[in-house]
Amino acid sequence: MGLTRKQLTILFLCLCFTVFLQLTSVSSSTSPQGQKETASSRSFEHEKEVHCSRERSRAAWKIIDEYLMPFVEKERYKISSRCRLHPENDLYRDQEQHKMHVDINEWRCGYCKKTFYEEKYLDKHFDNRHYDLLNVSHSKCLADVCGVLHCDLVLDSAPHKTKCNPAATGRNKHLCESLADSCFPVNEGTSALRLNEFFLRQFCDAHTCSGGRKPFSKGGKKETSTLYVIISVLVLMLLALFYIFMYLYLRGIKRGSQGLKHISKSGQKKRS
Ligand SMILES: [Zn+2]
Repeated sequence: MGLTRKQLTILFLCLCFTVFLQLTSVSSSTSPQGQKETASSRSFEHEKEVHCSRERSRAAWKIIDEYLMPFVEKERYKISSRCRLHPENDLYRDQEQHKMHVDINEWRCGYCKKTFYEEKYLDKHFDNRHYDLLNVSHSKCLADVCGVLHCDLVLDSAPHKTKCNPAATGRNKHLCESLADSCFPVNEGTSALRLNEFFLRQFCDAHTCSGGRKPFSKGGKKETSTLYVIISVLVLMLLALFYIFMYLYLRGIKRGSQGLKHISKSGQKKRS
C-alpha cells in the first residue's frame, strides 16, 4: 500500500463530506416546508374570493392523514360525507392530488402537465388556471377546522401563542366535540364508539387553558421514513469503508516494517 497516513486522512474526510452533502440534498428534497413561508406571500386575490386558505387546509389534511386516518383504518370504519373531515369536504383535495413532486425543483400540474420550480408557483397556477375545478358552492373549507385540529403545530411559520384565550379555547373544544359526534356517531356501533372516544382524547382534551394536556396524545402514523433508511445505509457503508481502510492501513504498516527489517538484515549480512 502506497498510501501515507496523511493521504488516508484526506480520503476519509472527503468521504465524510460527500455523505454529508448527500444527506443535505436528501433532506431538502423530502421537506418542501422551506418554501412554505414564501408561499404564503402569494396572491390573495382568489383566496379572498374563496375565503379558504390552501395552506391551512393542507395542514389540516396532514394532521387528519397522520393522526386520525391510521386509527380509522384500523377500525375499518367508513367516515360518512356528513363528517367535515371527509376528503370530499376539502375544497382543495382534488387539486392537491393532482400535484406531482417529480424532483427537488420540479413540481408538475396533473391536469395540464406544466412544470414549476417550486410548489408555490404550482399553487398559483392552480389558483389562476384551474380555478373552475374548485367546488366553491358548498362550505367545504377544511381550514375552518384548523383550530380544532391544532394546525399551528404543523405550520412552522405560525407564531406560537403564549397566552391562552379561554373564549377561543372553549369554542374550539365545543366544535371539537361536535366533530367527534358527527364523524363517529356513538349509536353506530362499537367501532364508532371507540373512535369517538379516541377523537376526544386525541384532539379535544388539549383544548383547555389549565394546561398539561397535549394534542395527539395517542400518537400518529408509524412508518419508517425513507430518510431514516437512507441515513442508516449511508452510516453502515461509511463504517464498512472505515474498517477496510483501517485494515489496509495497518497491513501497510506491518509490511513496511517487515521490509525495513529485511533491508537492515541484508545490510548487516553484506557488511559481515
Ligand atoms: Zn395545470
